[in-house]
Amino acid sequence: MMEVHVLASGSDGNCTVIESDGEAIMIDAGISCRRIMSLMEREGVDKDMVKAILITHEHSDHVSGAGATARKLDVPIVANEATFNASNLGNVQHWVYKSNASIDIGQFHVTPLPTSHNAVEPNCYFTEVEDSRVLVCTDTGKFSFGIEHALSIADIAVVEANYDLDMLVNGPYPYSLKTLIGSDHGHMNNRDTALALKRTMGVNTHRKIFLAHLSKTNNTPDTARQTVSDGMGVRRMNIDCLEFAGDTRTLKVD
Ligand SMILES: [Zn+2]
Ligand SMILES: [Zn+2]
Repeated sequence: MMEVHVLASGSDGNCTVIESDGEAIMIDAGISCRRIMSLMEREGVDKDMVKAILITHEHSDHVSGAGATARKLDVPIVANEATFNASNLGNVQHWVYKSNASIDIGQFHVTPLPTSHNAVEPNCYFTEVEDSRVLVCTDTGKFSFGIEHALSIADIAVVEANYDLDMLVNGPYPYSLKTLIGSDHGHMNNRDTALALKRTMGVNTHRKIFLAHLSKTNNTPDTARQTVSDGMGVRRMNIDCLEFAGDTRTLKVD
């Protein structure tokens, strides 16, 4: 049975661990190695279970702790060549993959799905173990057909709800940054994420939704959960996200 541990999510750093039957993979390591070790211990994740660290893209909120963590755990970094080269992780083991080709890491069958973001060759990851499926998808200005398909069959969907459109437009960011964030190569807003989740709801009524990468400046957990539950027409209690700095969450495939 797969479990997803969201250890950190947002512009201060991102790190998610997917665990199944004594093995685990980490997706992004954008907080310090020390913090990752202490959060894994708090969540009951044995560090020796981790087999690899998959990187979505080279932004520091996704890679700042990746090199140190890979060396500490003695595991490879898994990324496409362009992302690996842009990430400056120092001396680490490295497995390259081609975007769109699946990778097998222990029992995890992982499919990278290209995202639309201001990075060299960004991806998100769709992970399958037997008939359980988890999508972790942040840092994209739009969801591709492939991502929406993954959303439609995921048991757990950790998806970006980065900003509230009104808060971004009326907020303190300079115009150029507002334009980038709002573009197809920026981030997803609450409303567009809600529409994609609604479109992909189908018969998959047991899907668990976790909102990720919320902006501290242009969103609040309350606003994100409310907008997404309203947009999807589901109860707010069924929409989860991290609520405060240092919060973590464990999600289980039923
Ligand atoms: Zn990010
Ligand atoms: Zn990014």
